[in-house]
Amino acid sequence: MPRKPKKPCAYSGCPNLTEGRYCPEHMSKVNSEYEKYGRDPRTITYDGWTGGNMAT
Ligand SMILES: [Zn+2]
Repeated sequence: MPRKPKKPCAYSGCPNLTEGRYCPEHMSKVNSEYEKYGRDPRTITYDGWTGGNMAT
């Protein structure tokens, strides 16, 4: 069985090789930035406003 070929990290300028999209270092960096975006307070505010309006 051949081993999985490693590819360069997708992060621009990173020379590390990885089996996934990013090397472990940038994987955690990209994930933390994604979480920050997912918890955008505007989304929560919008959902709350809509829910209250519909309940009345
Ligand atoms: Zn990297």
